[in-house]
Amino acid sequence: MKLLDITEPGQHSIAIGIDLGTTNSLVAIAENGHARVIGGLLPSVVAYEKIGKISVGEEAKKNPLAIHSIKRRMGNAGEKIDVTGKKLTPVEISAEILKVLKKRAEKLLGYEIKKAVITVPAYFDDTARNATKDAARLAGLEVLRLINEPTAAALAYGLDKGAEGIYAIYDLGGGTFDISILKMENGVFQVLATAGDTMLGGDDFDREIAEYLGCDLYEARRKKENSSKEFEKLIAPYIDRTLQICADLIEDSGIQKNEIKGVVLVGGSTRIPLIKKRLKELFGDKILSDTDPDETVALGAAIQAENLIKGSENLLLDVTPLSLGLETMGGLAEKIIQRNTPIPFSASQEFTTYQDGQSLMKIHVVQGEREMVSECRSLAEFVLSGIPPMMAGTARIKVIFVIDADGILTVSATEETTAKAQTVTVKPSYGLSEDEIEKMLREFMENARADITERLLKESQVEAEIAIKTVNDALEKDGDLLAENESKAIESQIASLKKLMKKNDRDAIDFATAHLNKICAPFAEMRMNRAMASVLQGKNIDAIAKKL
Ligand code: ADP
Ligand code: MG
Repeated sequence: MKLLDITEPGQHSIAIGIDLGTTNSLVAIAENGHARVIGGLLPSVVAYEKIGKISVGEEAKKNPLAIHSIKRRMGNAGEKIDVTGKKLTPVEISAEILKVLKKRAEKLLGYEIKKAVITVPAYFDDTARNATKDAARLAGLEVLRLINEPTAAALAYGLDKGAEGIYAIYDLGGGTFDISILKMENGVFQVLATAGDTMLGGDDFDREIAEYLGCDLYEARRKKENSSKEFEKLIAPYIDRTLQICADLIEDSGIQKNEIKGVVLVGGSTRIPLIKKRLKELFGDKILSDTDPDETVALGAAIQAENLIKGSENLLLDVTPLSLGLETMGGLAEKIIQRNTPIPFSASQEFTTYQDGQSLMKIHVVQGEREMVSECRSLAEFVLSGIPPMMAGTARIKVIFVIDADGILTVSATEETTAKAQTVTVKPSYGLSEDEIEKMLREFMENARADITERLLKESQVEAEIAIKTVNDALEKDGDLLAENESKAIESQIASLKKLMKKNDRDAIDFATAHLNKICAPFAEMRMNRAMASVLQGKNIDAIAKKL
């Protein structure tokens, strides 16, 4: 029988920071702004042994069927992975790593841990972020906040303390390379831009060295860590590639190289002396490498965890990596939140109905940079129903996008005249892999010009369509107002506009639409007069004057 619940003093106010890495993971804790790691690196490797035993870390590595780099698959949360007779999701597998990290930290600290800040790559999308939170929940951890890895690294360097300006975080791990550019202003962190290569890292160096020496990968890694000049030749092309990515990102983001005040080195592979040397050539003498590159991210997460627990006014800002928007007429994507917008963030836009008496409106949420919905990624779709019958163009449907501090999107739509609302939290079952995000951005760059042309053409076609519909409706109601030759002229203009709409000449479509509107102007006036006359009929002039 339990008589008393004895709690350690201060126990409630403890939260750890976790760097849940592709290759290695690490836990840290901060007390009074001072962060330290607890336990060493845990290889992010999980093995499902026979008889139901699960091993994680060094021991798992011995199993040839062990699962490596599960983090790469977090964006594909619905995936089922075969493990000795069972099918498990990336979330379940990742949870095993977190369970071990939690247990190990509890043993070393001597009390239970329930809360954590976990780091994720800046480009992780909704699915991968939600999946990371789910994995933590499975491991018995409440996630206080997900923060971007480069942001955590910057925090660990104390760049929040009065540092103003732009910093770069160069992160070269076992399997991935990331470069992020952060801006710090009044303690606000903003990720300005990120780039990288999801298939470049220390593993490549191991492979090259093993091939060169004719040894196995373990041997190669040992040799690498004593890094000799001999090996630098082998790995130089990879390092060149990371520098090229840095240079491209700087150019793409429009930031001047001399605006960058410091470059923080993160990731085990940045211990290789050649990297520092080459980075100095690119950035000059401002390479910051005075913390252990394995620990930086976890230490930053721990500092953020303490800040959140102590309720300090926290102004950490991360960004959303891809634009978010809605499908509009003609299959166009209307961006509501632009990529690289700091989060948390909300934005809204008003839409209206297209047809008289329209009672439903489809809200299709998409992600990506391209102009056409078909080229973007579909995140969610829902229908706002029960719009009261109104004339086309009079309903006011307000769509609100909210991204929370963890980067998770909620979309709601409200018909404002009746306050009829509908909301979805976007939790797509299939996420984007890091490669896919990269691919989407690359395609966007390559197609930007053609996309704009296509968008403008589509817009012209939609405008023409609306003009034709409006005129046809009017002809049906009040066509009798027109002389035969007048209605013939309008009909033939409609016919030639319809023909033009099938072609790709935007100017011709615009011209024909404008011409249709022009020749219909007298007709519109006649209709207005008729409407006025019917209102006035039988009414006392004084009564009308009172109303005006
Ligand atoms: P991740 O962030 O992907 O989990 P890490 O930052 O833990 O990865 O980096 C792991 C990589 O760092 C491995 O490829 C490892 O071999 C490499 N590494 C660690 N120490 C050294 C060293 N002294 N010299 C060269 N490479 C190193
Ligand atoms: Mg890492």
